[in-house]
Amino acid sequence: MKINNRFHWSSLLFFLVFSCSKEENTKMPIQEPPLLGIEVVHLPVVVHVIHTGEEVGVGANLSKERILRQIEIINEDFRRKEKTRGYNEHPDGGDAKIEFVLAKSNPDSEPIDGINRINMSIKEINDLGYNQNHYAQFAYWDPSKYINIWTTPLPLDTECLVLGSATGPKTDLPGTQLLATPKQGDAEGILINWMHFGESNIVCHARYGRTLTHEMGHFLGLLHTWGGHDCELNDYCDDTPAVDEIVFGRNSFEGCSGETIMIGNYMNYSDDDVMNIFTKEQIQRIYYVLDNHIGRNSLMTSPALQL
Ligand SMILES: [Zn+2]
Repeated sequence: MKINNRFHWSSLLFFLVFSCSKEENTKMPIQEPPLLGIEVVHLPVVVHVIHTGEEVGVGANLSKERILRQIEIINEDFRRKEKTRGYNEHPDGGDAKIEFVLAKSNPDSEPIDGINRINMSIKEINDLGYNQNHYAQFAYWDPSKYINIWTTPLPLDTECLVLGSATGPKTDLPGTQLLATPKQGDAEGILINWMHFGESNIVCHARYGRTLTHEMGHFLGLLHTWGGHDCELNDYCDDTPAVDEIVFGRNSFEGCSGETIMIGNYMNYSDDDVMNIFTKEQIQRIYYVLDNHIGRNSLMTSPALQL
């Protein structure tokens, strides 16, 4: 596509954002962060540790160290940090320049460490099934100020079977219909099975804390690399090779166009230890969400980021 000098910059931005699609054959320069004039975006998270009465550090009542390590891991991944599992030298890989911060104050403006422990066994709660609305009955902080993460006290036989889920942002980005966007009144946030939160020695492909990285990708608007299982319209990002089947495991294979698929992409179901990349167009999609979704945008200036 040629750009003449009457082409308005806002139109260019519009085009760049929506060029993140397999429909486009032309490659355009990628809009890199900082898109919003902020060098590094900070987003506040609260970890609601839902447990069944265990001591701190036992079972679902996760230790503070494990929670801190999980936050460190997601930041290594979003920052493509050198000398960590989140580093890559792929030409399409990017540093999202996003860091997650444990909330420094609660909704009453009292100082906290970003961890909210709830003993669910002493509360009577309606069962709405395994979803955000169920866990929001125990704790749910203003989603325009906090990213609510619930670690869920599932039984051990769910290990490696139930990992996590996230609600997605409702925007006009193509493919939004493939995200679990909340209906009016629904709770927004991320559920992570406690066994998959942080690092552990479980015998499983998902033990290095990448479940949260993947779910945060959805929360910020990313699709699986296979999107709706369609070679033409999959994840709306040109720099993730098109694939129309679920990607898991640790071995690459040929995608739609004969290109090798990107096994290390966080938006696959790949093994945690091979994941190491968000692409520049995925990051561009995240920045569109941060810029345009009211509830995600306000997180960047949340009072919970400061004491
Ligand atoms: Zn997913």
